[in-house]
Amino acid sequence: MDSASNTPTPGLRQKLIIAAIVVTALLALFGLSTLHERTASEMQARKNATALAFEKAPEQWLAHPREASEFERALQAKDVAAVGVSGGLVLYTDRAGHPFSTRLIDCGLGCKNEIGSRLGELSVAQGFALTDIDVDARTGGQRLFQSLERAGSALAPLLVMLLIAGPLVYLQLRGPLSQRTRLADKPKTRFDDVIGADEAKKALRRVAAFMKDPKQYAAVGAKAPRGVLLDGPPGTGKTLLAKALAGECGASFISVDGSYFSSMFYGAGIGKVKELFKKARDAAPCIVFIDEIDGIGRRSNGKEAGGGGGEQEQNRIINRLLVEMDGFSSLENVVIVGATNHIDNIDEAMRRPGRFDLIVRTAMPTVPERQQLFGLYLGQIKAATGMDLPSIARTAAGMSPADIANCVNRAAAYAAEAGEVHVSEERVYQSLETHQLGGEVSNSKDVITPETLRRIAFHESGHALVAHVLEAGSVERVSIEPRGPALGVTYVTRTHEEPLYGERELRSRLAMMLAGREAELIAFGNASSGAADDLKRASELATNMIGSMGFGKTFGLLSMAGVPKELIGPDVQKSVLDEARALLESAQAECRRVLEEKRDRLDALTELLLGQETVSGAPLKRVLMGEPTAA
Ligand code: ADP
Repeated sequence: MDSASNTPTPGLRQKLIIAAIVVTALLALFGLSTLHERTASEMQARKNATALAFEKAPEQWLAHPREASEFERALQAKDVAAVGVSGGLVLYTDRAGHPFSTRLIDCGLGCKNEIGSRLGELSVAQGFALTDIDVDARTGGQRLFQSLERAGSALAPLLVMLLIAGPLVYLQLRGPLSQRTRLADKPKTRFDDVIGADEAKKALRRVAAFMKDPKQYAAVGAKAPRGVLLDGPPGTGKTLLAKALAGECGASFISVDGSYFSSMFYGAGIGKVKELFKKARDAAPCIVFIDEIDGIGRRSNGKEAGGGGGEQEQNRIINRLLVEMDGFSSLENVVIVGATNHIDNIDEAMRRPGRFDLIVRTAMPTVPERQQLFGLYLGQIKAATGMDLPSIARTAAGMSPADIANCVNRAAAYAAEAGEVHVSEERVYQSLETHQLGGEVSNSKDVITPETLRRIAFHESGHALVAHVLEAGSVERVSIEPRGPALGVTYVTRTHEEPLYGERELRSRLAMMLAGREAELIAFGNASSGAADDLKRASELATNMIGSMGFGKTFGLLSMAGVPKELIGPDVQKSVLDEARALLESAQAECRRVLEEKRDRLDALTELLLGQETVSGAPLKRVLMGEPTAA
């Protein structure tokens, strides 16, 4: 049964909310005006007859204005029968019954002629009536104008609030799904467009087969897939896979993200879930893709700090989502695909059978996959032919497919900026460096003196030569262009992606890290601060080798990581540090031996770098192998 059938639809519900707001506002206004009338009539009832006479038709008195001096003269002549005072305004009636009005002038502190202060005493002496009155001396037009002006200034903040909040309220209450989601009718993406992710594709192919022919599966009693969770680092193709799934089975694709359901208004999030599922059912076969589903996927038990209405709303949204998923029939042909890179944040209830019970993982690409990705994206732009893709792919270590797509795009932008017709390998490397080193070529280039540049060139050449000779990896590229925080860079990549590092490889890496500083010492007789980061990384590796990897005598097979801290006394710490230091010193000795033995290659690479700033590919290989370089 459709559980949504006996509850108001989202549209009706919104209208009901608006109607309730309007009725409440009207009732409040009515209540206020009744109260105001009642207060006014109570006050009137307590007034004396003279005051009431003045207040009833003050216009009669106001129509005969007199000078204050005339009023004073009338008082002196004892020709006053009644006086009403409203601030500085005085209404008075003479003994003949003529009505007059005047304004008393404040003639200053201690003023002898002050009439106002003597009125009480004169009233007793002469026997005329004296009373306080509440009279407004303004004309009708003035009154209307000023009350409009006052209302305007009181309403101004309200108007501003309405202007700001109005559109928000409108969007929250109305915001049709089509405006807030990307409704891509039947994407053309296929699994073949997704590079790598073989396991994920295999799992999703099964879902696609089901969606293509749900009847066949239902006939043998197979349960339809309802929810798939794609788990993996950002940019590894989760959205692409979901689109490909829709593309493979000719389904519609609706995409939202977890935050889409959160709303300022209690209950609106649930309305959005219902609306989304209705759209999906209408568009079936359909894939609903919820990106960053952990945004709604974590239910709170209400005991956590900061629990409140927001969390309750969150729980209600999750419940609604699950109710909707449970309500799917086998033939409804809607599959919800959620993407996350925090699978642990997804509520257990969401992962139960019949809900998001298929978990598909995506991972960072391997070297061959990176090579294919570069091939794919370079194929979509005007790229030069004959690029060394294996080397580019190795250099792109740690980059996701999305990073690679971006990198190629940036390379094309560099080429366009330089007015080139093709995107060269150099542009791809330039873009890779921008990504890897976190910045474009920095301004520090202009302030580097020729001597410092020479030092940087020796430093980088040292790294490259030792890495090459001791086989710490494949040296892809050396550059002395400062980027981000780095003054120069040497790309050394592993030729394989073995998960294990042998002791020999680790020692070679230590030597490679120290080689920059050692080359400076050989060339200049002193070192610089430029080696600080190298030393930090080398120290980390050396202490790990001794303390955690079992390459030292002090700890032997014990690992610092596994031994409680309180058992590691200062003597043990000292021994580990001494051993790590000895390891670094032996790496340093090996490094110096290589550099001294191959001094000619060190000098040749330095000169090449000073000449062209960046050396890579075949010229780099030649100079590292000690072959003559083309001048
Ligand atoms: P995620 O959803 O995991 O954050 P996306 O699917 O949004 O990642 O990937 C962003 C972009 O990166 C895609 O549009 C596509 O251009 C590219 N991309 C990601 N993964 C792949 C892949 N496996 N094969 C080809 N291109 C990919």
